[in-house]
Amino acid sequence: MPNQHTTSGSSDTELLWHRHVPTLIDRAFAARDRAVSHRKIPFKVGVAALVQDPRDGRTAIIDGANYKPLPGSDGPRKCGEEDVEEEADRLGLYIIGMVIAAPHQPDDATGIDLGVTPSCTFCRCRWHTKHQAGRKYCVTPGTHLLFINADIPTIKVAMTVQRTMAIFNGATSQGK
Ligand SMILES: [Zn+2]
Repeated sequence: MPNQHTTSGSSDTELLWHRHVPTLIDRAFAARDRAVSHRKIPFKVGVAALVQDPRDGRTAIIDGANYKPLPGSDGPRKCGEEDVEEEADRLGLYIIGMVIAAPHQPDDATGIDLGVTPSCTFCRCRWHTKHQAGRKYCVTPGTHLLFINADIPTIKVAMTVQRTMAIFNGATSQGK
């Protein structure tokens, strides 16, 4: 691929990710300002993704935020991850990794508490469904995830999508 950023080895993707993490953290926190939450203490999630164009290897950053203006399960809802994924998918880009800054909340399905808020059941179901369908999707099992406690930013948990699915019981049993 004719780009200085890419030699298509996974170690290079790894390097790109680690190099961009500080910038991605800033962008994820800034994106929280656009979050919409119905809660009395707003649940604001900001996401910043390092994306790569498979056609030329070029990278860029896309950010997004959650949108849940009404309580209950009937109203509109969008996770910060989903916001970013829609844009990446529309542009045919892959997500090398995402930084997700959110208030602390244990996992919605398993109750596992890592001091951060992991991607929710909706997100895990979406990834599972896309991967099951076998079509190309912007999020891959190797996509990096860095969860940050927005109130205590020193608390961070890094894992891949694959690992997240494994730890939090994939998406096969709950939340569909
Ligand atoms: Zn979610």
